Amino acid sequence: MIEFRRISIFLREVYILQADDCERCVFCEDGDESATHLFLHCDWVSKVWSEVMRWLNFNFIIPPNLFIHAFCWSREVRSKNLRRGVWLIWHAVVWRSRNSIIFNAKSFEISDLVEQIKVLPWQWSLSRLNIETCLFYEWCWNPQFCLRG
Ligand SMILES: [Zn+2]
Repeated sequence: MIEFRRISIFLREVYILQADDCERCVFCEDGDESATHLFLHCDWVSKVWSEVMRWLNFNFIIPPNLFIHAFCWSREVRSKNLRRGVWLIWHAVVWRSRNSIIFNAKSFEISDLVEQIKVLPWQWSLSRLNIETCLFYEWCWNPQFCLRG
């Protein structure tokens, strides 16, 4: 389970990624690894977002940067804690996958990331938020209903 403290550390690590000291992206092995590329513009990661947005039934155009991405997301979810938690967990899933590829020589499967992006926020919201809970099948079937909490 990802905790907020870890997410905070994750964000500090992510924003350390600057255009000047970019390595090759481990997902596409083509683009420079900036935070914007890694979380938004990478061809492989954008496939993850497309799957997630299709699951959420959100119209989604990949934004130019993470701030606009967070802003767009904030309009879709009412609960501040839920909005912040889910958004951070989703990005932490991508970050952890990136680290697993680099440090553990793990492979990358879009379907695995999408599955983690579905499961982890649901587990987190059950344990951390004081909102009406959704069962996992409800979360998978109609996530917008659960996110409105
Ligand atoms: Zn990439």
